[in-house]
Amino acid sequence: MEKSAGSVGKVVVDNISKSYDVGRLKEPVLDRCCLTLPAGQLTVLIGPSGCGKSTLINILAGYEKPDSGSITIDGAPVGGPSSDRLVVFQETALFPWMTTFENIVYGPTVQRERLRDEIEKDAAGLLETVGLREFRNKYPSQLSGGMQRRAELARAMINQPRLMLLDEPFRGLDAMTRELMQEYFLRLYEDKGQTSLFVTSEIDEAIFLADTLLLMSARPGRVIKSMPITLPRPRVPSMLTSTEYLRYKEEALDILHEEALKAFEGGSQAAADFVEAYEERETVG
Ligand code: ADP
Ligand code: MG
Repeated sequence: MEKSAGSVGKVVVDNISKSYDVGRLKEPVLDRCCLTLPAGQLTVLIGPSGCGKSTLINILAGYEKPDSGSITIDGAPVGGPSSDRLVVFQETALFPWMTTFENIVYGPTVQRERLRDEIEKDAAGLLETVGLREFRNKYPSQLSGGMQRRAELARAMINQPRLMLLDEPFRGLDAMTRELMQEYFLRLYEDKGQTSLFVTSEIDEAIFLADTLLLMSARPGRVIKSMPITLPRPRVPSMLTSTEYLRYKEEALDILHEEALKAFEGGSQAAADFVEAYEERETVG
């Protein structure tokens, strides 16, 4: 698999709105949301809990339809679910009855568009990149949680989708495993240059990964700020202490804090938790 993915997958989201019926009321979740995902780039979306991030991912994946507005990928309108857009989320699971290797080659094997040799070569390369070469013949139950998540990333990546959608894929992992996951994910991304939208509610993760950081408002969600992150690649953990990095973090947190307060005033417990976490962070340093 060469780094050809970089030239495809440009996404333009134009003014999409979405409401859900809650009893007799219509609750707006996305409000005239606009964003662009440049081809071959890693865009990270961050926003307070409940602001509509997963709704946006579901719309991009084709699982849900917006009430209004348009979305195109490489100029073509997005319809229903398609193998050119893949979603990885926290609950994604490997097939328990297949080995790691079998899980990874499964997608392209059933698609029958590529030669078996080529698929196996790709799978071996991906296993190497995510540090699972020695575990190719193990079953998911024989892998740690972090290893399973790495195998899931490799399984998605081998399909060479036009667009990778990642909805808080590392949520629920302990801090050390999470940091390791970020590094493996970066290795995959920096190797393939696959157009990706990564959703997180964790600011360090967001800046560490992103080419562009999109900040979302409290519900009804809309992108309120697009911050280019010009830290060089490959990204390394020591960048997390650079002045440049801290400047990004301060700017993003100021905006997010304001949004979380708005949501808190609107009665969201999740936003209240976010404000609390933010304030703890400030006292810790
Ligand atoms: P996030 O991923 O940013 O935490 P979501 O997109 O999951 O936010 O949800 C945004 C809001 O939409 C939440 O208030 C949620 O309760 C509501 N919501 C999401 N899906 C549905 C649905 N299928 N029906 C009704 N309300 C929904
Ligand atoms: Mg979500």
